[in-house]
Amino acid sequence: MSSTSKNVDPAELAKFQDLASRWWDPDSEFKPLHQINPLRLHWIRERVNLQNSRVIDVGCGGGILSESMAIAGANVTGIDLAEAPLSVARLHAMETGTQVEYRDISTEECSEEMPEQFDCVTCLEMLEHVPDPASTVAACAKLAKPGGRLFFSTLNRNPKSWLFAIVGAEYVLRLLPRGTHDWQKFIKPSELDGYCRSAGLVVDETIGLTYNPLTRHYKLEDDIDVNYMIVATKKDPEAA
Ligand code: SAH
Repeated sequence: MSSTSKNVDPAELAKFQDLASRWWDPDSEFKPLHQINPLRLHWIRERVNLQNSRVIDVGCGGGILSESMAIAGANVTGIDLAEAPLSVARLHAMETGTQVEYRDISTEECSEEMPEQFDCVTCLEMLEHVPDPASTVAACAKLAKPGGRLFFSTLNRNPKSWLFAIVGAEYVLRLLPRGTHDWQKFIKPSELDGYCRSAGLVVDETIGLTYNPLTRHYKLEDDIDVNYMIVATKKDPEAA
């Protein structure tokens, strides 16, 4: 795929367009994102100083993470290719008086326009929705300054993740609408590690995100069988 052609599946965007108006309703289809946000924000803040740093949130949707990072002091740009979630994100930021720049642009195009401008790149719960995740990871790497840090989260691909993330989350517990995820697009940590290495990134840490159906709480822990998050660093040739 050329660096400027669009790496996007319109059917995937349509899912998010249709639900956009409920993005900030904590009891909507986006409840899981609201519930995990404090956990992932905390994990990010333990690893990067967001204060006055330039951050790009790739696949930002309605802006749950973008806004929380801006409130934590970062100068945030949020990008996505779905218009309705971006409109919701802009409205919400206006309502809360939070400063975030939201843009309708592909990750690849944005990386051509703003290479090496960001201290931190976040791309959470998005890679499993794109046709070519390696291209997205490479574009994220290009957006980061040398030495910059990148956070990715996605879903692992194995029998357990099919049982928990598809059958459990979409059919039994109904945490997410049916068809939200396509198991075949899930990404093994080894594959994500490969995309990172090809893009000049070094994966520093991997952490799992688990859901307990009895307590209905999410937790960060070592179990990376289903949901997981990684932090990587862009190699700095000067520092070598
Ligand atoms: N990152 C946000 C939203 C996750 S939902 C969060 O974790 O809170 C997934 C988002 O990815 C949706 O907003 C969807 O529109 C976006 N997305 C899916 N495919 C995309 C693509 N090819 N390019 C940019 N954004 C995409």
